[in-house]
Amino acid sequence: MKTPGLIDLHLHLDGSLSVKSVKELAALQNIEIPEKEEELLKLLRVNDDCKDLTEYLEKFAFPGKLLQTKEGLALSVYNLQEELKEQGLIHAEIRFAPQLHTLEGLSQREVIEAAIDGLDRSDFSAELILCCMRGNDNHEANLETVKLAKDYLGKGVCAVDIAGAEALFPTENFGDLFALARELEIPYTIHAGEADGPKSVRKALEYGTKRLGHGVRSLEDPALIEKIVAEGITLELCPTSNLHTCMFPCIEEYPLRKLMEAGVRITINTDNMTVSNVTLGSEFRKLIAAFALTDEEIKDIARNSVRASFASEETKKILLEKIEKAE
Ligand SMILES: [Zn+2]
Repeated sequence: MKTPGLIDLHLHLDGSLSVKSVKELAALQNIEIPEKEEELLKLLRVNDDCKDLTEYLEKFAFPGKLLQTKEGLALSVYNLQEELKEQGLIHAEIRFAPQLHTLEGLSQREVIEAAIDGLDRSDFSAELILCCMRGNDNHEANLETVKLAKDYLGKGVCAVDIAGAEALFPTENFGDLFALARELEIPYTIHAGEADGPKSVRKALEYGTKRLGHGVRSLEDPALIEKIVAEGITLELCPTSNLHTCMFPCIEEYPLRKLMEAGVRITINTDNMTVSNVTLGSEFRKLIAAFALTDEEIKDIARNSVRASFASEETKKILLEKIEKAE
């Protein structure tokens, strides 16, 4: 079947710049890039023999350089939306960390406004998630991100998140960010249960998150899985990304069926389209081939994405109708 209602809820802007976007951004900002596409791709993409998360994260350095100006940010968000539309998606939540785009003098506010400018240039249905970053010297910057999210909530921004090296900077260090988000009534998701195990997920749940970025390592703790099911927590699964960071040796070992059979609400997402060389369509095709997903199961996953999204009730209604109508 044609996959109905493709919705990406876990999609990083910097890891999803297409070659076309990279070339346009380089030309716009007079940044030198390799002439040969093959060389360029080496800077942007991991191979299937990617050794670990460190090698994976190295691929964000180059796109980061291209995303330090207002016009660069706006153009990248616009292009990404046009590409998602072309791929048949009906909605997406695009995430990025404003503080990573201030290296050439932009303020976080200017970064966010530039991204919203890009968002508004396309008629594709999308909103922005602002990521805080795990670290030990950027506390003020993280607090600023959460406060700014409040200013732009419902005006392009839909939520906050925390990204970065989970094993080095544990989730337990960032409770105050989510306390502030709760106080300001900003929705949030939390990257947890990817590089770190169940204790990271337990912390994220303690902070009141209803969504987990990845969350797959919750499976190491059966009681935690029960809690996730009982509380209706949604997992933002990104299968190929997890293969590239060596969490699972091959797609057949990916615990998709295990999670579904346990009754966990799952969604399928790309994480980083360019770094992992995937689209949401290719992720679904891979999973359909490996797990013989039925049409109804695929529709259910799409329904989960709508219910878990940070979109308005009105948008959710439109998206659900599109899914139900799909052949
Ligand atoms: Zn992610």
